Order: sequence, then structure tokens, then C-alpha cells
Amino acid sequence: MAPEVSTAPDRIAPGGSASAAPLLRDFVGGKWVESRATSHVDVFNPATGAVIAKTPLGTRADVDAAVAAAKAAFPAWKATPVAERARAMFAFKSRLEEHFDELARIVTTEHGKTLDESRGSVRRGIEAVEVACGMPSMMMGYGLEDISRGIDCDVHRQPMGVFGAIAPFNFPAMVPLWFLPFAVATGNTFVVKPSELVPLSQKRIHELLQDCVPPGVVNVVNGGADVVNGLCEHPDVKGVSFVGSTPVAKHVYRTASQAGKRVQALGGAKNFIVVMADADLEKSIGIVSESCYGCAGERCLAGSVVVTVGGASHHAAVRERLVAAARAIKVGDGLEPGVTMGPVIRETARRRILDYVERGLAEGAELVLDGRGHAVPERPGGFFVGPTVFDRVPPRSAIGREEIFGPILSLMNVPDLASALALLHGHPQANATSIFTASGKSARAFASQAPPTMVGVNVGVAAPMAFFPFGGSKESFFGDVKAHGRDGIAFYTDQKVVIERWF
Ligand code: NAD
Repeated sequence: MAPEVSTAPDRIAPGGSASAAPLLRDFVGGKWVESRATSHVDVFNPATGAVIAKTPLGTRADVDAAVAAAKAAFPAWKATPVAERARAMFAFKSRLEEHFDELARIVTTEHGKTLDESRGSVRRGIEAVEVACGMPSMMMGYGLEDISRGIDCDVHRQPMGVFGAIAPFNFPAMVPLWFLPFAVATGNTFVVKPSELVPLSQKRIHELLQDCVPPGVVNVVNGGADVVNGLCEHPDVKGVSFVGSTPVAKHVYRTASQAGKRVQALGGAKNFIVVMADADLEKSIGIVSESCYGCAGERCLAGSVVVTVGGASHHAAVRERLVAAARAIKVGDGLEPGVTMGPVIRETARRRILDYVERGLAEGAELVLDGRGHAVPERPGGFFVGPTVFDRVPPRSAIGREEIFGPILSLMNVPDLASALALLHGHPQANATSIFTASGKSARAFASQAPPTMVGVNVGVAAPMAFFPFGGSKESFFGDVKAHGRDGIAFYTDQKVVIERWF
């Protein structure tokens, strides 16, 4: 067993040096414990380049300990009336509200997005907790008297046991909250593996949550692939929720489903925004630009390919306005007022994004706005990339097809809506897509004929709120049941059909 510690983990001071940066602990069975890891990864403040914490790369034994604690807590938590479990979610929500600004600052410090963006993402996480507060109504079953003479039939939804969630780096507070409130309020127990790049908001969230639920109901194991694989293969884990890149989503889906588990694996994306010739450009372009450059493009719903439908003058007008909007973005430290785009997550990510710019040039796209070498003098160690615009992007090029996950916008032009839809259908992924138009007919045709995915009409980021299902299709989603909304209840419960007769 790993040694237990009685105190909560230290607060992280932004801007610390690598040696001073604290090594995070896991949260297992209601206690903060040391990981069995023998190695770690550094957590950076991407705006300064300073190391602010270290994430232990946990082992299978760490997973075993957390799953054992969650398994032990399950019978009593399952037997806890759903109204009491909902009350725990109300308490959790209150604690999140009390610490709202603190959480947003942690997200910006570990991830880099602006404070406003962090506030928005924490708000989205809280909304998922709010939805779970309604669990007594949401998890109700149904029934019918006299299905035969003197025989009644009832359907009950029941929790199943231990579930795991594996998170990406881009929404450190929000993504685990797409799952945890639904799993826990339905009566399951839970193990979260945060992204090793951004573990600090989950640490703080679990410090706030720990007094709201009994020990073992929620657990955190820090680490990388070993922890992921440990959760996917553990015989006592009933199901796994994953969010991350497509190759890892595929791997998680395959591994966990082979081990007999329920899996929902949300993968990567390349999202197309279609701008029709009748679109109100005055109102639309700011929304389109925000979709691409918000969170420095590190968003699974980022509209990174803008497809104009119509003639050369329409395309030129869209291009001119998008370039102007991109030029107006103020790049810098997301904690600073007035900054509208923060850094990307790591120096390796920055180099990968810049490499895509080189590939775009090599493949014949026209570089209209060059974000390479965008300096932020007051933050010389930060991982910054300036907003970049490419025009005449060949649909089959790397920048036109692959997920860049950075502030790079690709422009394409097609003659009609059918050609735009063909681009969407020709792409292996389908997460979100949007159309900007004044025509109800075009909007309806688009929403109906786009691949099954999250569709926006004059909306740049088609992100369903927590009471609707979230998830794409094709290589952006592996599984049957999507995240949150009614799907969240279905994923975390089994149905029991009781047919009864009394003599
Ligand atoms: P990632 O796939 O690198 O990592 C996600 C998780 O998987 C992390 O917790 C990581 O530790 C783990 N992991 C990484 N490599 C692994 C391996 N080889 N084996 C087992 N586990 C492994 O993703 P990321 O870079 O953290 O996040 C960005 C990606 O997430 C983008 O592709 C983005 O589109 C996607 N994303 C998708 C959604 C969605 O709703 N579809 C939402 C957010 C992010």
C-alpha cells in the first residue's frame, strides 16, 4: 500500500521552479496518498514556461488501489437514497460556486486559455453538476399494471459499480465534469484520470468534493498510458468514459470493450464551417473567428476550416473580414486583462503547429496571415503562436484534413451547398459543423444532410449543454451512448425489468 498522508496537497504557487514544484498526490478512498510512480511529467504554466507542478506517472497498482476503494464504497452509495445523492451534488455545486474564480485561475495557469474562457469552461462543468441535482426525476423508470391478469411490470434504473473517466488536456476542469456528476448521482463510484499535462484543476475540484460524498465514492489517479490501460482492463471497472485524440480513443474503445466494459470514447475532430453567400457577415464573422481561435484553437469543436459557398466576391469578403478579426486578437498571458488568446499547451505543440504551417506552404496553400514568430515580449518563455490564415487550401492537404489543434484557419471555396456537404462526408471525422446563412431552406438541408454530428446554425461552437447529449460520429466517437444528457443516465445505469404477481 502507498503511504497515506493526513493533510491535503499543497497549493501550487504559479511560476515556481522545477525543483520546487510539488509532486501531486492521488485521491484514493477519501485520502490524499502518494503515487507509486517512479517517474513524473512536468506541469507548465504555458504562458511563462515555468514548471508549476509534477504529475506522477502512476502504475497499475495505483489503479488497483483506487478501484478497490471505489468498489468498497459502492454498496453503501448505491443504497443511499437518490435524493441524498442529489443533495451531495447540491453541496458540490455550492462549493464550486464559492471557488469559481479560483478554479478559473487554476485552469488558465495550467492550460493557458484566457480567464474568460476558463470561467466559461468552469461554468459548463457546474452546469453538469446542476443537471445531476435533478437525478431523482431523471433516473425514474416506468411501469404498467396488469400486463397480464394480476401481473404488473416495472422498469428500474440501477447503478452498476465502478466507472472510470480519462480526460484530455484542453478542458481540465470541465471534461471530467461531463461524466462524474452523472455517474455519482446515479449511484456509481468513480475513478478519474486527469490529463497528466493539466492535473491541477481536478486536484482542487476533488479537494472541494471530498466532503460532499463518502470516502471512496470519487477517486483520482494521476498518470499516463499505464493508468489508462489499467482502467480499461481492470475486471472491477464496469465502464470507461474517454475524451482525447482519435488514435487513443480507438485504443481505449477496443481495449475496454474487449474487456467487456461499456465504453464511450470521444475522439479528435476537423470541423467545417460553411458560410453561404446570404450570410449576415457583419454578425457572423466574429462568431466564426472565435470558433477557430478561441482557446488558441485547442478545442474539439473549433471550426478550423471555413468553406465559403458562392462566387469570388463573397469569398473575398469573408477572407478580408476573417483576416481583420484575426489581426485584432491580442495574444498573451491569459491572466492579463485585454488578452483574447493565450498560448498553446507545450513547446512541442507549438513546434507541431508551426510545422503544419510549413506543410501548408509546401502543399500550395496561400498564407494570408502568418502567426509564426508572434512574440509576446513580456512573456518570453511562453508557448505562443499567432493567429494564422491560409486561403486556397486543397481539401486533401494536411492542413485541410488533419486536426492541427492550434490557431490556424483554412479557407476553401465551393460553388454550392452540395459540394460543401461532400467535403464533410469525405472527411473521416465528424464532431461539429456549422452553417451561416439567412436561408431557412439552406439551414434545414444542411442540418438534415450533414453527417450525424453536432450542428450549429449561425452558431460557431455547437456545444450541447449538459442536459443534451454531447459527441460526434465517425472517427470522432466510438461507442453507442454519448456524454451527458439522457445518454449520461443511460450509460451509467442498467435497466431492471420486474414482472410481478402476488397470490
Ligand atoms: P490524448 O489522446 O493525447 O490524451 C487523452 C488522454 O489519453 C490523456 O489522459 C492521456 O494521458 C491518455 N493517453 C495518451 N496517449 C495514450 C496512449 N498511448 N495510451 C493510453 N492512454 C493515452 O489527447 P490530448 O492531446 O490530451 O487532447 C486533445 C485531443 O482531445 C484532441 O484530439 C481533441 O479533439 C480531443 N478532444 C475531443 C473532445 C470531444 O468531445 N470529441 C473533447 C475534448 C478534446
